[in-house]
Amino acid sequence: MILPIYVYGQPVLRKVAEDITSDYPNLKELIANMFETMVHADGVGLAAPQIGLPIRVVTITLDPLSEDYPEFKDFNKAYINPHILEVAGEEVSMEEGCLSLPGIHETVKRGDKIRVKYMDENFVEHEEVVEGYLARVMQHEFDHLDGKMFIDHISALRKQMIKGKLNTMLKGKARSSYKMKQVK
Ligand SMILES: [Zn+2]
Repeated sequence: MILPIYVYGQPVLRKVAEDITSDYPNLKELIANMFETMVHADGVGLAAPQIGLPIRVVTITLDPLSEDYPEFKDFNKAYINPHILEVAGEEVSMEEGCLSLPGIHETVKRGDKIRVKYMDENFVEHEEVVEGYLARVMQHEFDHLDGKMFIDHISALRKQMIKGKLNTMLKGKARSSYKMKQVK
């Protein structure tokens, strides 16, 4: 089922999300819905707060990039209770967008290498060192679980430049190709 995506201005996007336990109701169905919603909106990542739930669940698909990066073929993963333990590596600048910020694309600087812990869909614990594009997507998505969005990482000047677009969202007048839940 495709769910509406919560847009900038929705308080849930600024909450610190909670870890869940293995008895969380209908988790398999929730994850399936998140994948469907993300793929439908052409996203590569989706965090549960973006569908209105303040819990630590994230889906990531890198399959859309597999034409250029064959190693990402069929990369579809759900991350339960993820936490970033360490950010390291070279600081790299890359343009980012977000389904909760339709029409905004800004360059964000992030470390190229991270150490993360999370559980998979079967609540098996993992600890991994991740580099490159996946490390970028994970940092963007896991930020959502701490109430952060990528625009928090841009300069005051750039933030000023996108103020008009943000205000449009706060008025509930943003547009996109997918279903959204705006504040008004
Ligand atoms: Zn996002």
